[in-house]
Amino acid sequence: MSKLICVYCSSSDRLDAKYYAAAEALGRALAARGWGLVYGGGKVGLMGALARTVKAGGGRVVGVIPQFMCDKELAYDEADELVTVITMRERKMLMEARADAFVALPGGWGTLEEIMEILTLRQLDVIRKPCVFLNQDGFYDELFRFFGKMVEERFNKPTNLSLFEVARTVDETVAFLESNRLPVAEPKWFVTT
Ligand code: AMP
Repeated sequence: MSKLICVYCSSSDRLDAKYYAAAEALGRALAARGWGLVYGGGKVGLMGALARTVKAGGGRVVGVIPQFMCDKELAYDEADELVTVITMRERKMLMEARADAFVALPGGWGTLEEIMEILTLRQLDVIRKPCVFLNQDGFYDELFRFFGKMVEERFNKPTNLSLFEVARTVDETVAFLESNRLPVAEPKWFVTT
């Protein structure tokens, strides 16, 4: 079945080459399976590398980008579909709505903000779509340790840690997406009275 995979990732052009290589490997893997990409519509950083590779492999690229970024010429104009919106919130909403699954590659605040919204919606059971981090070379290890502290101190439930998958490689990422595995969320609250 053809899917649209939403990928959140860095907009930086100043990363180590290995990060662009992984984004391109993911782009090739998506296109090879006939899956499309929905993403932030940028031509910069990992976003640009990923989108160009999906497109080069014959895959469909859907970008959702705020007008102010288009005005700064940050948009990937070769996208099959480039949806312009006004706000960052509208952009996230559209990306979420269009996606069949979510992947976070290494990134900064923007990436983290986007993927955290997905985890929050997963724990509330508002979204029932798979979610995977590509933890390239342990990039997200500190974040997962922090998640562990949240659980230890009961800000979060242990079962919520199974609402997302952690992949070490692009192959593992794609294998998870192919598996269609979807852990079910438990009720969010420990005690409400
Ligand atoms: P960051 O991880 O801070 O580099 O932010 C990347 C994420 O935020 C992407 O997944 C985009 O949706 C969005 N974003 C941030 N900067 C840009 C940009 N210059 N062009 C397009 N999208 C961007």
